[in-house]
Amino acid sequence: MAGTFELKIIEPDGVFYEGEGELLEFVSIEGEMGVYKDHIPLTTILEPCVMKIHTGEGVKNAAVLGGFIEVLKTKITVLAENAEWPDEIDVKRAKQAKKRAQERLKKSDASIDVRRAEAALKRAMARIDAAR
Ligand code: ATP
Repeated sequence: MAGTFELKIIEPDGVFYEGEGELLEFVSIEGEMGVYKDHIPLTTILEPCVMKIHTGEGVKNAAVLGGFIEVLKTKITVLAENAEWPDEIDVKRAKQAKKRAQERLKKSDASIDVRRAEAALKRAMARIDAAR
């Protein structure tokens, strides 16, 4: 076991999570990542994803809907645009958001803001995955 790092997940309205972790899994613009203590320091942009916080007691999943992550050897800080625990997620609403975004992307005419629809689709899929 590589040991533990300090993890802090901050949202615009305060601290979402603070504790120790053994492994943190997430998706950044560089792809899927899994980080243990003593990882090479890095800063990157988070995709909307299910963040998996592995601790001595088990795994906690949270939907992190984009933001930034700073990885240092013994401390990881997440500045989340928005973060939600599974029990806070309205799955029906997320499924509707997913459908809306997919329909917009199918139309693909000039009236559609493709990047906005793609971002909404990623948020909806992260929520559905986290709530599972
Ligand atoms: P929607 O189209 O359903 O509003 P969205 O991805 O555009 O989804 P956001 O802009 O990411 O929504 O979030 C706006 C607010 O609504 C936030 O406070 C967020 O936590 C809340 N929210 C959005 N979707 C859900 C959901 N499925 N369950 C719980 N809260 C949600």
